[in-house]
Amino acid sequence: MPTAGRYGAEPGEGPETARVVDPNRDADEQLIEAALRPKRLSEFDGQVRVREQLDLVLRAAKQRGSAPDHILLSGPPGLGKTTLAMIVAAELERPIRVTSGPAIQHAGDLAAVLSSLAEHEVLFLDEIHRMSRAAEEMLYLAMEDFRVDIVVGKGPGATAIPLELAPFTVVGATTRQGLLPAPLRDRFGFTGHLDFYDPAELAQILRRSARLLAVSVSEDAIEEIAGRSRGTPRIANRLLRRVRDWAQVYGDGRIDAAAAHAALDLFDVDPIGLDRLDRAVLEALCRRYGGGPVGITTLAVAVAEEPDTVETVAEPYLERQGLIRRTPRGRVATPTAWAHLGLTPPAPLPDQAYLPLDEDPAGGRFTE
Ligand code: ADP
Repeated sequence: MPTAGRYGAEPGEGPETARVVDPNRDADEQLIEAALRPKRLSEFDGQVRVREQLDLVLRAAKQRGSAPDHILLSGPPGLGKTTLAMIVAAELERPIRVTSGPAIQHAGDLAAVLSSLAEHEVLFLDEIHRMSRAAEEMLYLAMEDFRVDIVVGKGPGATAIPLELAPFTVVGATTRQGLLPAPLRDRFGFTGHLDFYDPAELAQILRRSARLLAVSVSEDAIEEIAGRSRGTPRIANRLLRRVRDWAQVYGDGRIDAAAAHAALDLFDVDPIGLDRLDRAVLEALCRRYGGGPVGITTLAVAVAEEPDTVETVAEPYLERQGLIRRTPRGRVATPTAWAHLGLTPPAPLPDQAYLPLDEDPAGGRFTE
């Protein structure tokens, strides 16, 4: 079976782009993450609405003894999509098969996975928007009718042999819901959108992780780390481990606010949690392009990253923090961004700066 490509397959990834708060992970980190992953819905902190909705969907399906509707989870990396997929299987007490869009390039790859699923098995498809068109089309039919058509032969003599499948549940995860074709989106009976966590929720996650890692952390250190974790549990857990390193090497192993402060400064995590890429985007926008508007491709070149990485990793958080806005003419820096960098904005600010996204005819997307 093809294995998940995970984020290691993302373009633009490499040592030169490695960041302490990078959402991409190596094998060691994946092991640690697995150990810190909540196993049941009751252990999953934050995302209250999605959790309640999912709880209802799963309990109802269990009561009926049937497979639940297919589930789509969307949101930026590191917010808990994989974790929730695992939880879906655990709550249903069913096995889970894990693969990803990039690993399924041919319809045949998908047919092989689908035809080997056990009844009511959960199929986790990470980065589902990156599947090939042919596989996508096969997936529609399989999700709807639990059937795939295996094409035998070529040209006019080709025949489609229908293959019945056992009922199963797809849990799809995507960082780019907008890239999913409508027919595929429509096949999901439940869509949960994961949003950035607030500091109190991250603090809760950090307390749990500290307990599991058996490290002693003061409450003010928890707050410090939570406030600088970019609203992302993966980053919170990663920063906790870096702070633990610092306390072990330079202190007595216990993590207090001073240790947290010193370690986070050492790793260039700024007071509102922006990391190097976030800051590079802001700096390019303000210093190089006078606050914009500037197109995503130009901005990505300026920070030596792939446009997709800038769009899915940096921008959602910068926008959420009110530091940038997406307008039909490109990205613009807000007054908060200038203030955060300690710079004075040129007067007047770009006239597009305050156009709300819903009034944006390009849907926030700027094409050059
Ligand atoms: P995604 O699939 O969205 O990129 P993951 O599910 O892999 O994110 O989550 C990354 C890490 O963050 C996991 O190892 C898990 O330990 C932690 N995590 C995510 N969401 C939560 C949560 N709500 N509560 C506790 N830990 C979480």
